[in-house]
Amino acid sequence: MLNFSFTEEQEFFRKMLKDFATEELLPNYTRWEREGITPRHLWKKLGELGVNGLRIPVEYGGSGADCVTTGIAAEEIGRGDFNLTYAVMLNGLIGEIINNHASEELKQEWLPKIASGDSIVGIAITEPTAGTDAGGIKATAVRQENGYVLNGEKSGISVATVADAFLIFAKTNPELGGRGISCFIVPSDLPGVECKGYEDMGNIPIGRGSVYLTDVVVPEENMIGLENKGFSQVMNGFDLSRLLIGLQCVGAASQSIDETIEHVKMRTSFGKPLATYQGVQFPIVTHYTQLEFVKWQSYRGLWLRDQGLPHSKESASVKWLGPKYGVEAIHQCLLFNGHYGYTKEMAHEQRLRDVIGLEIGDGTAEANMMVIAKDIIGKEFKSTNHQLVTSKN
Ligand SMILES: Cc1cc2nc3c(=O)[nH]c(=O)nc-3n(C[C@H](O)[C@H](O)[C@H](O)COP(=O)(O)OP(=O)(O)OC[C@H]3O[C@@H](n4cnc5c(N)ncnc54)[C@H](O)[C@@H]3O)c2cc1C
Repeated sequence: MLNFSFTEEQEFFRKMLKDFATEELLPNYTRWEREGITPRHLWKKLGELGVNGLRIPVEYGGSGADCVTTGIAAEEIGRGDFNLTYAVMLNGLIGEIINNHASEELKQEWLPKIASGDSIVGIAITEPTAGTDAGGIKATAVRQENGYVLNGEKSGISVATVADAFLIFAKTNPELGGRGISCFIVPSDLPGVECKGYEDMGNIPIGRGSVYLTDVVVPEENMIGLENKGFSQVMNGFDLSRLLIGLQCVGAASQSIDETIEHVKMRTSFGKPLATYQGVQFPIVTHYTQLEFVKWQSYRGLWLRDQGLPHSKESASVKWLGPKYGVEAIHQCLLFNGHYGYTKEMAHEQRLRDVIGLEIGDGTAEANMMVIAKDIIGKEFKSTNHQLVTSKN
């Protein structure tokens, strides 16, 4: 049976989020960038709407929803405020990682706070000398009595300036390379943790930055997963976040397309609405079509994940095409709005800068193509020695 329809409950959830995005998010989307703040109250609001806890079981304060439903949230919130979709993506990813791999005590401590939006938790893998080559990180976690001492620098980390805690990846056995990495939950107020923000071209309300770790003592209980196995155990989560990113970009770009269709129907040139010219219609149709492909491939990947079927290559495919097609669509929309589209009065220019960030974050196009190549061409032709950010190493 092939069935592309959403359930009645999912349609209801979509409608609720669409209304919320249109009425409360869209009118303020550019405001948080202008004011340079992360709107924590909106993360809390997402908690009230049940968005933060979609991938968190009911017993820990979430709703235990499926991945397809989480995708609906990414798409609809993306229409209103692309930056707020980081809450959907990070809480989905981190909620799953903690729920699947952390101890009962850590689950009870962190999952309810993440679901409610009271706590913001980031994930810190990238370092100044290791991004795509994630297995080449240098941060260390050295075992001592009752815990570990962490040292290193994490760079490019979303929510670095506002997070209450981070999932930090560090080497517990440097000799094992990518297979000697463990994951720890590290509260940002622990002695030795210092966070500094960047001046980014977009995603300003995300507060991206570096996390410096200097002799940070972390209790043994804060390890997530087994020692040296943390990396491969949690990497499966990226198959989820990448599918959500596909839909985040579809949501943002579709909003630009909808706004632009309204504009070209109203605006006339040479005595006729712009919408009557095929030179205007065809690019809009091209971008709409490309986004539809990303959208349905994303939902297909999420469905596969819900069924427990392999979906790494589907996930990687929308991670590289979603931001790319999103950026191309928004760029064209900006141009069809003429000089006014180039001003900050309209949202297109910010959307463009914001969506570009996810052409890099969570793995570049090339990193994701490596995942697909490994699957369709074969592991034995893998071009790198280090561990790629994929669940199928
Ligand atoms: C908006 C944003 C949010 C982010 N959030 C987080 C976060 O929350 N947590 C986190 O840990 N990190 C985060 N990052 C960092 C991000 O994951 C890395 O920047 C990304 O993985 C790329 O790593 P890099 O910057 O070191 O680039 P490099 O790995 O140095 O790559 C540079 C270029 O070379 C290409 N390249 C590298 N290797 C190959 C190869 N073998 N073949 C072909 N091309 C190659 C890359 O595709 C890229 O174009 C974020 C980044 C951005 C921009």
